[in-house]
Amino acid sequence: MSTKRENPETIAIHGGDYRSDPTTKAVAVPIYRTTSYQFDSTEHAANLFALKEFGNIYTRIMNPTNDALEKRLAALEGGLACLTVSSGQTASAFAILNVAKAGDNIISSTDLYGGTVSLFTHTLSKLGIEVRYADPADPKNFEKAVDDKTRAFYGETLPNPYLRVFPIKEVSDIGRKYNIPLIMDNTAAPVLCKPLEHGAAVVVYSLTKYIGGHGTVVGGALVDGGNFDWTTDPKRQPLFNEPDASYGGAIWGKTVPELTGANVAFAVRARVVLLRDLGAALAPDNAFGLIQGLETVALRMKQHCSNAEKVVNFLTKHNEVSRVIYPNQYKGEIGNRAKKYLSGGNGALVGIELKGGIEAGKKFIEALKMFYHVANIGDARSLAIHPATTTHSQLNEEELLASGVTPGYVRLCIGLEHIDDIIEDLEQALSRSSKETLKAVS
Ligand code: PLP
Repeated sequence: MSTKRENPETIAIHGGDYRSDPTTKAVAVPIYRTTSYQFDSTEHAANLFALKEFGNIYTRIMNPTNDALEKRLAALEGGLACLTVSSGQTASAFAILNVAKAGDNIISSTDLYGGTVSLFTHTLSKLGIEVRYADPADPKNFEKAVDDKTRAFYGETLPNPYLRVFPIKEVSDIGRKYNIPLIMDNTAAPVLCKPLEHGAAVVVYSLTKYIGGHGTVVGGALVDGGNFDWTTDPKRQPLFNEPDASYGGAIWGKTVPELTGANVAFAVRARVVLLRDLGAALAPDNAFGLIQGLETVALRMKQHCSNAEKVVNFLTKHNEVSRVIYPNQYKGEIGNRAKKYLSGGNGALVGIELKGGIEAGKKFIEALKMFYHVANIGDARSLAIHPATTTHSQLNEEELLASGVTPGYVRLCIGLEHIDDIIEDLEQALSRSSKETLKAVS
């Protein structure tokens, strides 16, 4: 195809090498519902297993529907290769397990999705991988925590509840001094931010959110930027520099570039070691669903951002709202980061603090008519949740505040409905919750 593929709208539809199905000429990517693939000969089979030739072996490790999605996601991110997996949680877990083993540590931002915190703090520690936390307000906090067992830095581009954009280049520059790769979770900001352009080495996604975009499919992805040399410092990255007994002594940092001619050791190791052994594959039916979402992600993100900005304008003037949390509401360094890294828009997540506290938060959620009350983000529908009575209800008030959730905090995820209808629903819910809160306290 001759079209220049630099524009995300075009990449989302044409990115990768899928043009039409080679046998049927079908234009839409077919769902290849097969577990296995016929080998041409015993030599062909042996070459595939030895990675001398790349091709399909078994759907736990690769599938043509997933492959079309993977190549398109890699193109959209500006990366070299991608691996899709069964969920965003798997993507985060694989990203760490691909670089760290028992006795190693990684340094993660404190501003993280709760599921990632529980994976890092509880499950990875049981596997012997220590996760050290650094407040990204000052990127130097990452440097302070480095030691010779540090294998990666980890951050989230647009983490809630604070929506303080992560200092991607600042932390990546520190990492590159020590040959430590930065892994970025870009779930909340596809198209809006391309972390690889700012020095991240790997991007992970929960595809469940904006890439799928319609609240119908759970999936995850790891995108290998191809911009990190895994062999410069063998002691820093042992998993890429020591022979892997599980794969005929392959030294991933060397073997993969030799075989493929590309710096895709991270993606290949994640596929042929972790996906092979842990088996958390994305079903091809789900890959198909995610491709349908991906094709419109750039357009949807524009509309999500445009609606969210109008909601922010409305809420900042509202009497019942004491604070609106949105990337463009920050001043100083945090505000500068939003401008620098969210070049495509400020996203769809909006946090509000209600003057009436916990009671107002509860009543507001109950009064919403069009917004859905769900623990999800990245749907075409507008969504809302009151963390103090749901996701964070096990925390005491002190812990709540430490996690950035005040009792009256409500997270909104602005959808694609007409802006007038979104604002009308918010307006009626704010007015009802204020009346009912007054009644409850008087
Ligand atoms: N990362 C972020 C930022 C998320 O918001 C989520 C889920 O909410 C995940 C990862 C985990 O994704 P999944 O639910 O697809 O496992």
